Amino acid sequence: MTTDVNVRVPVREQDAAKRAHNFEEVCYGYNEEEAVCESTRCLNCQNAQCVKGCPVAIDIPAFIAQVKAQNFEQAYQIISKSSSLPAVCGRVCPQETQCEGKCIRGFKGDPVSIGKLERFVADWARDHGIKPEGASSKNGKKVAVIGSGPAGLTCAGDLARLGYEVTIFEALHEPGGVLVYGIPEFRLPKEDVVLKEIENVKSLGVKIETNVVIGKTVSIDELMQDEGFDAVFIGSGAGLPKFMNIPGEQAGGVFSANEYLTRSNLMKAFKEDADTPIYRGKKVAVVGGGNVAMDAARTALRLGAEVHIVYRRSEEELPARVEEVHHAKQEGIIFDLLTNPVEILADESGWVSGMKCIRMELGEPDESGRRRPVEVPGSEFVMDVDAVIMSLGTSPNPLISSTTEGLDVNKWKCIIADEENGATTKEGVYAGGDAVTGAATVILAMGAGKAAARGIDEYLSNK
Ligand SMILES: Cc1cc2nc3c(=O)[nH]c(=O)nc-3n(C[C@H](O)[C@H](O)[C@H](O)COP(=O)(O)OP(=O)(O)OC[C@H]3O[C@@H](n4cnc5c(N)ncnc54)[C@H](O)[C@@H]3O)c2cc1C
Ligand code: SF4
Repeated sequence: MTTDVNVRVPVREQDAAKRAHNFEEVCYGYNEEEAVCESTRCLNCQNAQCVKGCPVAIDIPAFIAQVKAQNFEQAYQIISKSSSLPAVCGRVCPQETQCEGKCIRGFKGDPVSIGKLERFVADWARDHGIKPEGASSKNGKKVAVIGSGPAGLTCAGDLARLGYEVTIFEALHEPGGVLVYGIPEFRLPKEDVVLKEIENVKSLGVKIETNVVIGKTVSIDELMQDEGFDAVFIGSGAGLPKFMNIPGEQAGGVFSANEYLTRSNLMKAFKEDADTPIYRGKKVAVVGGGNVAMDAARTALRLGAEVHIVYRRSEEELPARVEEVHHAKQEGIIFDLLTNPVEILADESGWVSGMKCIRMELGEPDESGRRRPVEVPGSEFVMDVDAVIMSLGTSPNPLISSTTEGLDVNKWKCIIADEENGATTKEGVYAGGDAVTGAATVILAMGAGKAAARGIDEYLSNK
């Protein structure tokens, strides 16, 4: 094991050539010895910058000190005070731009592997049957939470700890939001990680009702007026996919990344005996450069296709996490950068037979500060593909806003809510996560769920 304090303990991973053909988890995480060794690199800073980089303000030096002392249960209870989903966050949070991006060790060497330590503690607690501590008594007030993604689960967990009776209403047949239908098994195992953390939230007293579509099955006003809920939190995410609106996009074999990943993750279409089918293309183009694009590409690869990421800017502007791009490259995904689709071509049966693209070059910076991609005249060419997965971002579904009077949204259909406490324009109704910000991250959704739980508690305590 490493003895250089500037170098982090490396984490073991499944071999790239092997994992390109299976859906098992890529990263193995730390074992006890590795975690304790890495924990000794933490300086236990008085004014810990890492905590300022964490949207849910986990007491990072305190939990790492407990790892160092080998009090793993204590470490887990410290994390649980701030986070309901540590095994998830330890796996998918962009720590490099958050806690680890601020770690003092990062000035001279590698920042402390805070994410891998969090994951170790959460997995250890699961393996030893340790549950988070709940509320000692109930306060008799009822809160409805819409959506069981990270925002809803966090808000529900925090309110249950404060003594509220909380029911989550989820449209799908399984709880978890993007954690179950979006992020693939090889990055975030469902049975062993996501479902176990949802069980922990339930152990705090939270009820979850699945197959309930708010805005169709029942409205927010009915929940409050007829079903006796004192407040409502909306954490319904941003699940509506965007398309390019180019000719031929209606052809068979063109999928949104959302649909493709939902088939594979939620409906388990990657398993041979699954009821839900999935198209296992021979040569698949994934259009886009974010985390979702990487997940769709790596899924298609595992289903046996040659996969190309088609992105209109250069590698420097790829919005996906560096780790995801690195893993994708290791596994054999081909990156066609500075390339933009202009038309999808179809055969006589209406199925994708190719994708006409144009080469791009980078011009002046645009309003996002990134250099604007500009078409190179006369550079059109046809990519020979039999499936195209569009991964161009998502926006909130307008179902809830259009069926709830007094709930204001902005021009992107995102619910308008106060960042400090989640309050919307409708009294007693709070919101947070992707439904408010548009597609963002797990930890930001959790931070918003926490803020709204505080807001709801304040509102109901003064009512
Ligand atoms: C493929 C993919 C990969 C990602 N990878 C990462 C990553 O590595 N790291 C990271 O930090 N973030 C990642 N993200 C983003 C992250 O998952 C989201 O930002 C986060 O899940 C948002 O949480 P949320 O609770 O707001 O919404 P969601 O997770 O979308 O949950 C919303 C829930 O509300 C339910 N719902 C919607 N409408 C209704 C209704 N009318 N009635 C009842 N229920 C309803 C939905 O079914 C869903 O279960 C990824 C996203 C995707 C799609
Ligand atoms: S900034 Fe780094 S070294 Fe300091 S307490 Fe946080 S993790 Fe430890």
